[in-house]
Amino acid sequence: MFGLMMHRPLLISSLIEHADQYHGDTEVVSCSAQRAMTRSSWRNTHRRSKQLAQALMELGVGAGDRVATLGWNHCQHLEAYYAISGMGAICHTINPRLFPEQIAGIIQHAEDSVLFVDALFLPLVEALKPVLGSVAHIIVMDESAAPWLAFSRPLLQYEALLASQSGDFKWPQMDEETAAALCYTSGTTGQPKGVLYSHRSTVLHAWAVALPDTLGLSATDSVLPVVPLFHANAWGLPYAAALVGAKLVLPGPHLDGDSLTRLMDAEGVTVTAGVPTVWHSLMLYLQTHGLRLKHLQRLGVGGAACPPHITRYFETEQNVRVLPGWGMTETSPVAAINQPKAAQAELTGEDRLLHLNRSGRPLFGIEMRIVDEVGAPLPHDGQTFGHLQVKGPWVCSSYYRESESPLVDGWFPTGDVALIDPQGFMQITDRAKDMIKSGGEWISSMALEQAAGSHPDVLEAAVVAALHPQWGERPLLLVVLKPGAQVSAEILREHLATRVAKWWLPDDILFQDSLPHTATGKLQKTTLREAWQHHLTQALKTDP
Ligand code: ADP
Repeated sequence: MFGLMMHRPLLISSLIEHADQYHGDTEVVSCSAQRAMTRSSWRNTHRRSKQLAQALMELGVGAGDRVATLGWNHCQHLEAYYAISGMGAICHTINPRLFPEQIAGIIQHAEDSVLFVDALFLPLVEALKPVLGSVAHIIVMDESAAPWLAFSRPLLQYEALLASQSGDFKWPQMDEETAAALCYTSGTTGQPKGVLYSHRSTVLHAWAVALPDTLGLSATDSVLPVVPLFHANAWGLPYAAALVGAKLVLPGPHLDGDSLTRLMDAEGVTVTAGVPTVWHSLMLYLQTHGLRLKHLQRLGVGGAACPPHITRYFETEQNVRVLPGWGMTETSPVAAINQPKAAQAELTGEDRLLHLNRSGRPLFGIEMRIVDEVGAPLPHDGQTFGHLQVKGPWVCSSYYRESESPLVDGWFPTGDVALIDPQGFMQITDRAKDMIKSGGEWISSMALEQAAGSHPDVLEAAVVAALHPQWGERPLLLVVLKPGAQVSAEILREHLATRVAKWWLPDDILFQDSLPHTATGKLQKTTLREAWQHHLTQALKTDP
């Protein structure tokens, strides 16, 4: 017997309709590349999204067509999000920091028919011109005219397109399983693969992100997604903010400490989220200038493990609650957040900070387990670590246009190694590919990096496996020091010796000017591994 309740599909258009109807006057504030502030609202965002949907229909965009965006966080990009998905097309956000060949590859793979672009990225698009065969129209989202002049393809102007439309448009009703957005993984561990979100998965994920034990969003919050709209849907914040009717503050390309501090203070930002690298530079800026953020209450951090000194700084010096989380493009991305249960809420001081090293506990909807090499489940005892697998209505079941399913027994293998404690808190130990197997025992490159990074003179540290004739693999530490700092390898080794087991200590410590990063700001471990894996076996090879 079925229940007798209404069937209302979970559609992305319902989020913006709700925000317009009940939070229409709430602000959506946006900073352009030229630092011009636009003060919009949910009502205006809704109207303009409908105008844009009409314009796209006139350009021939239909249901299921892929429409790409190459832009920073600003109100036009937000409107494109709602217009494209709302009309039944697929919003394909592209990370401009990918290599041009990767961008070309994914545009071809997705067969995007329209491309929205920030003027800032037109030189990149120009370089890709020979491979943009599927792209019939290029729409420039902002108005900085200079780079356009030399452009060799007709460009459409966003505001002109909108101006010709009435906005008298009704969002189509469709099956909630309809594809809504497409995001390619950033390729930290291989070629980018397309994750195709549905309306249902997006709305459920937004709901979960807003819950009290996730980011705890409400209509009284002012939310600043530092995480880009092109990185896993900005962790669902553009949708979750509409769902609760929070004020949304979009920083454009300005993510440096000075710009973020000014914007957060001026717009009363209470919640923000981003990767640890951004919080590291904000921390340095605030420390250097002796500043205190005026309104910030919660700071979400994910995409990589948050170095403990950053957590400590924001918790103790800024009185901001740090909310570590875990997820990946394939999990929409938020799957776990480190919010306390009753027992952890009582923790104070060092105990509280120690607990904040955990990556998080699963949100409702996400199931998690760890398994051994042959796929047998391992205990959640807080000691045993294994391959992390997840399930849930906002977890990817197949990649776009890939015939082979990634699932194993119905579970998505994350590629991460983790432990789960009896309370359900999960902690990432490492990426499976980054673990170092020394004499049959595992060493976590991530834990070593955290230990090295805790030295006050270290700016960044990477640990990779180098082949070793006796042990199979041994850790190699690559370090970038802070400007002007002078620390010897010996001192670093002593620092590490007080923090990790003796047999974990790296066989060599090498000082570098910089380390390579992926398009999402993470260490490019594949490149480093390739460059350094023979360092210990080929004594003569000292440079990559
Ligand atoms: P990519 O897989 O291309 O790097 P994602 O942004 O999807 O792009 O990255 C997901 C990965 O980021 C996870 O599989 C995990 O390795 C890492 N990650 C995310 N959150 C954390 C965290 N809290 N601690 C450690 N690693 C994390």
